[in-house]
Amino acid sequence: MSARSLFEQLEERLEGQVPQQDDLLQALLDSLFDGVIVIDQNGHVRAMNAAVETIFGCKASELIGRDASSLMPLTGIRQTGKAAPGQAEGVACGDELTGRRSNGTAFPMVVNLSQATIDGEAMKVAVVRDLTEHRRAEETIRELALNDGLTGLANRDLFHRRLEEAFRSAAQRGCLVALMVLNLDGFKSVNDNYGHTIGDALLKHVARRLEKVTRKGDTVARLGSDEFAVVMVGLEKPDAIRGLAARILADLSKPVTLEGSLLRTGASIGIAFYPRDDTDPDELIRKADTALEAAKGTGRGTYRLYDEIMDAPARAAKVLEADLRLAVVRNEFELFYQPKLCIDGRRVTGAEALVRWRHPTRGIVSPGDFIPIAESSDLMVHLGEWVLRAACEQAKAWQDSGFPSLPVAVNISARQFRDSDFVAALKRTLQETGLDPRLLELEITEGMMMEDTEQVIDEFHLIHDLGVEISIDDFGTGYSSLAYLKRFPVHRLKIDRSFVRDLTTEPDGAAITEAVIKMGHSLNLKVIAEGVELEEQVTYLRSKGCDELQGFLFSQPLPSRDFASWLTSWKRPIAV
Ligand code: C2E
Ligand code: MG
Ligand code: MG
Repeated sequence: MSARSLFEQLEERLEGQVPQQDDLLQALLDSLFDGVIVIDQNGHVRAMNAAVETIFGCKASELIGRDASSLMPLTGIRQTGKAAPGQAEGVACGDELTGRRSNGTAFPMVVNLSQATIDGEAMKVAVVRDLTEHRRAEETIRELALNDGLTGLANRDLFHRRLEEAFRSAAQRGCLVALMVLNLDGFKSVNDNYGHTIGDALLKHVARRLEKVTRKGDTVARLGSDEFAVVMVGLEKPDAIRGLAARILADLSKPVTLEGSLLRTGASIGIAFYPRDDTDPDELIRKADTALEAAKGTGRGTYRLYDEIMDAPARAAKVLEADLRLAVVRNEFELFYQPKLCIDGRRVTGAEALVRWRHPTRGIVSPGDFIPIAESSDLMVHLGEWVLRAACEQAKAWQDSGFPSLPVAVNISARQFRDSDFVAALKRTLQETGLDPRLLELEITEGMMMEDTEQVIDEFHLIHDLGVEISIDDFGTGYSSLAYLKRFPVHRLKIDRSFVRDLTTEPDGAAITEAVIKMGHSLNLKVIAEGVELEEQVTYLRSKGCDELQGFLFSQPLPSRDFASWLTSWKRPIAV
């Protein structure tokens, strides 16, 4: 018999058309998860299926004849529509109701109520669905969505919600909210050295420790990898937090054995307060993060309370960026030039253009202070184009005025180099200034060669094909290998200033310098040492076969006019 015909039979029975007992029909009713209860005109339970016993937790014998309203409210169930033809009439569908089991416990349920005529008697048929499991599943889903899977702590979403709730409650009670953000010191090295299983165990350990030291009502959250946060309400004074912060740090610095490995870690903490430091949740988080950075900066394993002064560098950078935009328009940049000499100092082999900013109130600002700011926006591309053009014009002017072969080197920033128009702009600048490409050199840092290698190699070839030489600046600070370097059409390596400085004092500086010279020569490249300040450095570099020198020993970077005078007066060969 098909299911359809079983339902038809059920309908017929409910309508009183098939009065005889049908075992098959009873079996069908008993197999349902939903409880089916037939209620007579007096409101007493007349018949039911097996699920009703399970739902209400008592035997059929105890239920038959009982007042149905003791099991569930029968009034207030919304009528949702008329019965379809052939259906039991007057189907009513309830909102969620509260049922009561025989032991007195309440449970959520929905009831569908319909009218039926059975054996000529008007009855109600209630179909009861117990929602307990459904609600539990929903709760689990909600928890999964709001809790961090690894530690079970609140996740970022729940943390934000709790932070806002804490603000509201503190505003009503007139107290403070402390937001504490915490980072583990050296978590990356735990992951690298012990593996992710132990890294995960450490995060769980930290979560449990934080839960232990905080109070009920505080929120402990994990915001990211090893980033935790605690929201605390009900504080009277900011200083009240100090004891807790110190306790957390002491606790987390204790060695701990996890999965058989003994770990020593620590943490840094930043704290900001509502409403003292900010009343905007995102801003308060930023300020707690700023305090955290300050804590990390003062040596790890400490905590810091947010102070406006911590924002001073960021504010200064903002002001500088605004000034920098104006500087491009106001033409406040100038190029200084520093000579490069051959190893015996007799001949000047070129000049490096180094940009300076003549700030209207600050005086000369060095590139180390503004290039990183320009790099973080499109400003660097404009500034870079200006530098390139100014250097090419200067090189051409020197060529025309009696220094026929003085190449000028221009530093190219990563942002500028990545700009898709870079090679085209270079070509255009050479054409427009009329400079012989052989008198231009580009200084590109080692780090830039590592990004997107194939594209960089292609770009190097395009530049090389124009006749422009390429130097690798600050060489030795990156990780280029011999095999790697071979793939780039490069002309010169510039040994980083830090190695040259350490040449005569640190064995490592000397070893690296010697290795760079050998490596460069094995690839037929010229090697230049930058930052040369002492005669002893020259002696060493010369003994190792270095080709060129640049540094304060010969000249500081100079404005172009001073550079031309320096050039004409330079005679001093180096004493060796
Ligand atoms: P860099 O290209 O490695 O330039 C060498 C830096 O070392 C220059 O600093 C120079 O003044 C300094 N220097 C030269 N000889 C000595 C020495 O004997 N002792 C010491 N202590 N320092 C020496 P500067 O001009 O402050 O430039 C710093 C960095 O800023 C440059 O490093 C370069 O990376 C960047 N930069 C400078 N001008 C430009 C530019 O026009 N464009 C781009 N993208 N970057 C530039
Ligand atoms: Mg340079
Ligand atoms: Mg350099």
